[in-house]
Amino acid sequence: MARAKLAGLPQAATTHTRGTAEYRALDAAHHLHPFSDMGTLNQIGSRVIVKANGVYLWDSDGNRIIDGMAGLWCVNVGYGRQELADAAYRQMRELSYYNTFFKTTHPPVIELSALLADLAPEPFNHFFYCNSGSEGNDTVLRIVHRYWATQGRPDKKYVISRRNAYHGSTIAGATLGGMDYMHEQMPAKVDHIVHIGQPYFYGEAPADMTPEAFGLARARELEAKILELGAENVAAFIGEPFQGAGGVIFPPSSYWPEIERICRKYDVLLVADEVIGGFGRTGEWFAHRYFGVSPDLMTLAKGLTSGYVPMGAVAIHDRIARALIDNGEFNHGLTYSGHPVAAAVAIANLKLLRDEGIVERVRHEAGPYFQRCLREAFDGHPIVGEVVGAGLVAGLQLAEDPRARKRFADGAEVGLLCRDFCFNGNLIMRATGDRMVLSPPLVVTHDEIDEIVAKAKTAIDATAKQLG
Ligand code: PLP
Repeated sequence: MARAKLAGLPQAATTHTRGTAEYRALDAAHHLHPFSDMGTLNQIGSRVIVKANGVYLWDSDGNRIIDGMAGLWCVNVGYGRQELADAAYRQMRELSYYNTFFKTTHPPVIELSALLADLAPEPFNHFFYCNSGSEGNDTVLRIVHRYWATQGRPDKKYVISRRNAYHGSTIAGATLGGMDYMHEQMPAKVDHIVHIGQPYFYGEAPADMTPEAFGLARARELEAKILELGAENVAAFIGEPFQGAGGVIFPPSSYWPEIERICRKYDVLLVADEVIGGFGRTGEWFAHRYFGVSPDLMTLAKGLTSGYVPMGAVAIHDRIARALIDNGEFNHGLTYSGHPVAAAVAIANLKLLRDEGIVERVRHEAGPYFQRCLREAFDGHPIVGEVVGAGLVAGLQLAEDPRARKRFADGAEVGLLCRDFCFNGNLIMRATGDRMVLSPPLVVTHDEIDEIVAKAKTAIDATAKQLG
């Protein structure tokens, strides 16, 4: 796809008026960043991002940075699209806000719901809106519990998730997630949430096990947990089709079909957290399609609006929607559920993804090229153990001895070292422990893929050299 077609917003004059030092001082004085060690950060100073277009960011010193992460895995249509800015502007002038609580609705939320029903797989015809992926997963819990109550089975309360899963940072999202470092700072968690092992073959499989056998073994931990808790007490299983923040972990192909079989056998709802995987990342509109499973609920956010404004949603299977519709009031909602401006931006964004064939291009063209380039660059690299991914998402395992599948003792440090080399080389590539991850905007061109891969190679080579 030609960049000219994608360029959209002209290089608008930026609104920033201060210099880097002044911004950093004010930032340090007044702003607490998410997931940051503020003491250290305030000493170093943040990089100040002042504008973006396509797949590039610019900082306040005029450096151009290629964004290999689409922000936080969210800017699917790329930065600076005029169509999204226009949609927000028009909607703010016409109906800037109204709620959908008390017998009211509005055209943007109606149109968005109809469009999503068109784009989503067949059993998903109803959508509940919120502002983020975390709120989406809170909403999933509310829906799951409400559903089983309407079925006369209120004891079905347990939700099973996985270690090293990421489902958000609200109390419910973080409890659902399986991140130890988050749980450690949460003395009080949501009840009735338990975890099983993750399908992380490289990091956790015994040396003599095949990926397929490992996938089955990890899936059968679900069955064991259901039997331990009693199927009559288990409400749902939740999983990201591929783990994103956990390091872009793609399960062996045996994993998801077995999970689905177990969920069906014990009447346990299957929830796909599609916050990262949704809207084209793997080359499918929804990542569960890539793995060939059929969930009952889907959590959506990020690519829903390409991150231009906050919005999340839960897609609800007809069977569950029917139960919610036929059983009186569902006591859940947020002031900004279905916000008209967010809905208008989501519609414009989804139409771009659909009408420009962006998802198909990920599947047939950009995705295969990206995956091939990464494998060519890193197969046999002295500190890269594996390259995994599909479409425009990939994880690179850093390893001390790749052939022996031996990980670094201080893997997280190595990851951060590598991330700093990327950052200094004007590439955004994220480190999650000892895995480097890439997830660029879906409109990335072949030339830009070449630039990302070349910069990643420079950074990983430099990391290897520093480690000696
Ligand atoms: N679920 C998944 C799979 C995510 O990756 C994330 C965020 O990265 C979330 C939920 C939480 O979304 P948010 O940060 O919008 O609350």
